[in-house]
Amino acid sequence: MHFSRFPRWRAAHLPTALEPMDRLSAELSGPRIWIKRDDCTGMSTGGNKTRKLEFLMAEAIEQGADMVITQGATQSNHARQTAACAAKLGMDCHILLEDRTGSNDPAYKFNGNVFLDNLHGATTETRAGGGDMNAEMETVAENFRAKGRKVYTIPGGGSNATGALGYANCAMELVSQADDMGLRIDRLIHATGSAGTQAGLIVGLKAINAQIPLLGIGVRAPKPKQEENVYNLALATAEKLGCPGVVQREDVVANTDYVGEGYGIPTDACIAAIELFARLEGILLDPVYSGKGAAGLIDLTRKGEFADDENIVFLHTGGSTALFGYNAVFGYDAPAAQAAE
Ligand SMILES: *Cc1c(COP(=O)(O)O)cnc(C)c1O
Repeated sequence: MHFSRFPRWRAAHLPTALEPMDRLSAELSGPRIWIKRDDCTGMSTGGNKTRKLEFLMAEAIEQGADMVITQGATQSNHARQTAACAAKLGMDCHILLEDRTGSNDPAYKFNGNVFLDNLHGATTETRAGGGDMNAEMETVAENFRAKGRKVYTIPGGGSNATGALGYANCAMELVSQADDMGLRIDRLIHATGSAGTQAGLIVGLKAINAQIPLLGIGVRAPKPKQEENVYNLALATAEKLGCPGVVQREDVVANTDYVGEGYGIPTDACIAAIELFARLEGILLDPVYSGKGAAGLIDLTRKGEFADDENIVFLHTGGSTALFGYNAVFGYDAPAAQAAE
């Protein structure tokens, strides 16, 4: 793998920190748990999409785009980071937001990431849940092209082989960082959604033969579908990087036991995980992805899945901005707070 062979627009604050979580580890009294702070990548409160956007926006620049269009759920972190990157590049940004939760909470519909999309100057339009959003986006893009715009479209989550390069690169960053610290990583865990993060990490870890098992905690699709999505994208990413054949089907492991009712609907375990990280480590997770990922990490640790002498790294993929769309779920919205007074 040689990343300088690919165009890259440098915007992320890298390398992100790799830190122990000693109070959480003590609370769970199991393995030593570390955190890789990809919530601190820089653009507009950070998150995992920035690494993907370094490669995607570079392609947009190379193609002479004056506008990017992408899509995501209402509280999409990817949409917000794309809007910020487009702002920094002086490109227009248009976003299709899919209502996947049916929530009528004004905070969910207008605050958090939606507020920031608008603050960065992006234009948005909404769609009901369950449609083919990438197809919708292409239709919208064609309309802009017909008006003479040079449009670059980015799939949901920035998850194609170009975006996944960012996470193949992250695998190399993480392993060399751990080697510098003399840290042996026994396992890597993170929330997996549109698959680009896990696919990129698998390709990177396998290509350098790091021998670190990777576990994705699902937030939406059932296990067979999630693993298939990750595997297919990993194959395409390996091909692009010039290392076809490095990823085997069994390298792709997703645990989807922590999804709950569905995408974007917090579970009790997710809320408990967010409170635990906030109160023991001063770290903000999110209610859609990293909170469910951490719920998996915590539950598996309590069930004794990991040996006490292991070092587990939790990749924090970001998303805390979405907390401001979900304050009512925590009982901290204004009416609840007033009732408590
Ligand atoms: C998008 C996202 C993920 C999932 O990453 P994918 O590459 O889409 O699988 C995890 N956490 C947060 C906070 C995200 O925004």
